[in-house]
Amino acid sequence: MTLFPEMIENAMGVSITGRAVKAGHITVNAVNIRDYAQNKHNRVDDYPYGGGAGMVMQAEPVYQCYQAIAGHCREKVRVVYLSPKGKVFSQEMAQEFAEEKELIFLCGHYEGIDERVLEEIVTDYVSIGDYVLTGGELPALVIMDAVSRLVPGVLNNAESACTESFSGNLLEYPQYTRPEEWNGKKVPPVLLSGNHRLLAAWYRRQSVIVTAKNRPDLLGKAELSEEEKKLVQDLEREGAWEI
Ligand code: SAM
Repeated sequence: MTLFPEMIENAMGVSITGRAVKAGHITVNAVNIRDYAQNKHNRVDDYPYGGGAGMVMQAEPVYQCYQAIAGHCREKVRVVYLSPKGKVFSQEMAQEFAEEKELIFLCGHYEGIDERVLEEIVTDYVSIGDYVLTGGELPALVIMDAVSRLVPGVLNNAESACTESFSGNLLEYPQYTRPEEWNGKKVPPVLLSGNHRLLAAWYRRQSVIVTAKNRPDLLGKAELSEEEKKLVQDLEREGAWEI
């Protein structure tokens, strides 16, 4: 539900999500709230009661739009309102949403949407971070992208979604591709060894190091071995973050 359906259609129509739509792994319907305006000028916003800057989207067009969509959905479809006041989006939430058959995303604009319709239809308030954007379309796209790639069939290699950043509360290890030497820098030799045991140990160690360096807040939730805990302590002590 948006005032700018072309933003959603354009962004979802390219690259991996575009392929997923074509292959039928996901379906995207961008519905224009303005089509449900109640007046001949197709206005959907008005001044806020109590005064203050900006305009507020009216309840009725949003409600009518929702009713039209919900008529085609199964019962109890979740309605996600993108809002800086919401719970901050995470990989865990992406996983949860990916298990739903259908989702409705409601994109606000201007100063937001009349509270009464939000109370009536919204099940989840979700923010993409502590900053304010002009509209909910980019946040909806961020979430739709993150959720889509967890839908079976969307990524070519199912493994890539479960070994990457945030799985097990660790960030992903560094990646390299050809050539073997670039700008005087060589690929770490272990990656050329073909030894799966050594590779797995290297990936794991690098994940712990990069997480300790960039997102130490995640480490508290990660399951670390005694050896890894010691590695983190050593890194903290030495401030030695070079990989
Ligand atoms: N007046 C609102 C406030 O202070 O909380 C901000 C409204 S914002 C200018 C317009 C719309 O953009 C919101 O209704 C919401 O849909 C979307 N939006 C802006 N920032 C967002 C964020 N960080 N996460 C999710 N949605 C956001």
